[in-house]
Amino acid sequence: MFAIHLVCTKCGERYSLANKIYKCSKCGSPLDVVYDYEGIREVVEDNDAWFREAPRVWKYWMFLPVSNLRKVVSLNEGGTRLYRLKRLEKDLGFSQLYVKNEGENPTGAFKDRGSSVEITKALEFHARKVVVASTGNMAASISAYGAKAGLEVNIVVPEGTPIGKLVQAMAYGAKIKVFGKAYDEALAESERMAAEEGYHLTGNYHFRVEGQKTTAFEILDQLHFNTPDWIVVPIGAGTHLRAIWKGINEFYKLGLIDELPKIAGVQVEGYDAVVRAWRENKPIEKIRKKVPTVATAIAVKAPVDGANVINAINESHGYLGSVSNEETMEAGLMLGREGLFVEPSSATALALAKHMREEGIIDQGESVVVVATGNGLKDIKTWESAMSKE
Ligand SMILES: [Zn+2]
Repeated sequence: MFAIHLVCTKCGERYSLANKIYKCSKCGSPLDVVYDYEGIREVVEDNDAWFREAPRVWKYWMFLPVSNLRKVVSLNEGGTRLYRLKRLEKDLGFSQLYVKNEGENPTGAFKDRGSSVEITKALEFHARKVVVASTGNMAASISAYGAKAGLEVNIVVPEGTPIGKLVQAMAYGAKIKVFGKAYDEALAESERMAAEEGYHLTGNYHFRVEGQKTTAFEILDQLHFNTPDWIVVPIGAGTHLRAIWKGINEFYKLGLIDELPKIAGVQVEGYDAVVRAWRENKPIEKIRKKVPTVATAIAVKAPVDGANVINAINESHGYLGSVSNEETMEAGLMLGREGLFVEPSSATALALAKHMREEGIIDQGESVVVVATGNGLKDIKTWESAMSKE
């Protein structure tokens, strides 16, 4: 294993990897896993067999914090396809437009990359029962991987979580607790259960980031180690965007790519705390009101990795924007006409890319990868109501 320790993303405090913590005990900020990159370089440099291997999460084992690869809990996550949308790219004026279709993961969402790492780590920590707060996709994912590992899985979801996602978690044998009106309240409850009732906490913490960064590895690998101009990512907790930026920088550090892309993050109207903070150059303020949204998977009032998202956007000279419910559904149907059915939260990425092109933020001739995080079958109800309005 090339992971060496944990470091706080804000104050820089270091912790041992053996330490079962979820955030910095000094300042409360998210933690990050640090690696011995020279060690990784020795494994991947001039390793033709590795370069030829098909992309999947555990191809990148040297970038993951797992000590015994024989004990990995896997359902063959990752290896999702990168589709080029030739008709749409022409219509919208991009040189190349790709969709990384994360809905092809085992439970239908990008979360499986992180869950494989998190549940493997839970076994390393000898956990018997795990808890996770979720807007739905993480619930299904942790439930599947927990089931595979033989663990008891407890899910905390806010009221209004799409029933399809809960049914999926229940089918994997999870116990469901409905708590609070929004994700943030469910999250606080899961952290309380971990602290007071002995559950192993999973969710948007550092080990998940490590699994999620393989989205970036795969995109770059599938583009034959060429960097696209832009990668557009939906922001729920912000952990996926943060992870993608980390993965890109790791490949860059090792010389596997020559350039860095610009990263764009998208929130949905009404849940745009990070976009506002970035525009106004102010600290992130939690959203107070609950508003109706088609993008339930990213309806987060106070994204835990919001500050890390803003750092990634600034470092990459990228962009943050929000899109309306109407723009989201329109973009979803555009993807449908290319043969891709994604959940509304995923369609926000194309909606923002389209908007950025119209505003000239993305230049004509630039290449764009949009990350579609989940399968459309995850949220049939929202699609059904949008279609019945037409
Ligand atoms: Zn700290």
